[in-house]
Amino acid sequence: MSESLLSDLVCVVCGREVAPEGASTCPDCGLEGILDARYDLGRAARSMTPEALQQRAQDIWRYSELLPLHPDGRRPPQPVGWTPIIDAPRLAARLGIAGLALKDEGRNPTASFKDRASAVGVAHALQTGAATIACASTGNAASSLAGMAAGVGLPAIIFVPARAPLPKIAQLRIFGARVFRVDGTYEQAWDLCQAACERYGWYNRNCAVNPWLVEGKKTAGLEIAEQLRADIPDWVVVSVGDGCTIAGVAKGLQEMHSLGFIPRVPRLLGVQAEGARPIVDAFAADRALQPVAAETCADSIAVGHPRNWRKAVQRVRSCGGSFVAVSDAQIYEALRSCARLAGVFGEPAGVAGIAGLARAREQGIVAADERALVVVTGSGLKDVDNALAAAGPPQDIAADLEALAEVLTASGD
Ligand SMILES: *Cc1c(COP(=O)(O)O)cnc(C)c1O
Repeated sequence: MSESLLSDLVCVVCGREVAPEGASTCPDCGLEGILDARYDLGRAARSMTPEALQQRAQDIWRYSELLPLHPDGRRPPQPVGWTPIIDAPRLAARLGIAGLALKDEGRNPTASFKDRASAVGVAHALQTGAATIACASTGNAASSLAGMAAGVGLPAIIFVPARAPLPKIAQLRIFGARVFRVDGTYEQAWDLCQAACERYGWYNRNCAVNPWLVEGKKTAGLEIAEQLRADIPDWVVVSVGDGCTIAGVAKGLQEMHSLGFIPRVPRLLGVQAEGARPIVDAFAADRALQPVAAETCADSIAVGHPRNWRKAVQRVRSCGGSFVAVSDAQIYEALRSCARLAGVFGEPAGVAGIAGLARAREQGIVAADERALVVVTGSGLKDVDNALAAAGPPQDIAADLEALAEVLTASGD
């Protein structure tokens, strides 16, 4: 693997430059002072040519110059990234836009986008000699951390809120993580994890405060640019909880634009749930974030106090993007339309981007002659209860041909 071209970190609040070996947040701004990694993009442009990349493995490690890791360090063995981009013309027609593609992140090893961050987090933890890695999560960050940690034999400690869906808890337990189900919200689980990492010296995988994890999330933006090149759409749509995913995707697209892979940076559309929309409101009013009590069926974006809102807002603003909020009913509609019109089964937060695109069309943010790519961030098998609630139950019949005929006649088939 090629050498990392990491140069330094900058604070998203005060702009102070911090050496990569320094603290995980800005020494002046504390926990609010989240850091952003910068690379020598001039040098990266020389080795990361389209031809050179074609020779490399089809996973996130192909972008090693733009990742913060030693080239010969250990990596989780499960292949993360290089997920397919699927054309969705019938869904595009339903939404009233000129073109639509879906990037299916459910194809990652533990079935969500979070594997990108967890793989980098686990590799970085090993690089720093950590003996234990911990995180607080609405579900996917945890199940993915547990999977990646299991791949290399690193003990993982996880704090999840009481409402995490059962399939995600099952993933955690079967991968052998120590799981604490916190009697409280995601925010409370997050605070407990922060305090525990400080007291016990565990490696902290919490995405907002750990600048390296967003670098993992960035690989989706790098990939979209490399996979689509001149065909890059007008909009890239991402669902938003803490804000790390959209910030990462935007950063990846901007870096690939600097390297000449895409002719322009697409606009980013961030989508939150109506019941957890503090970033939508902070962006619209151009003010600091005010935490809310989160309530939505989309557990992965049920985040009332997003930690990385500044990175998300700054990146979306810098590419001329926007934020919208969608109701749970619109998310249910998107669960059905994504599966039925495009053949992709996403979890509620995974398809929220499609609901957001419909909203953005209504609001005139996205025009009829524009094209979009929606990042479907997690697999529908992560949350079958909501899928069944959106789709309805099957028809019960007796094991008998006449019983079938009766039902078919009654329904006019
Ligand atoms: C975590 C997650 C998101 C949102 O990512 P943030 O970094 O919290 O904004 C969206 N969809 C799924 C499926 C997720 O797991």
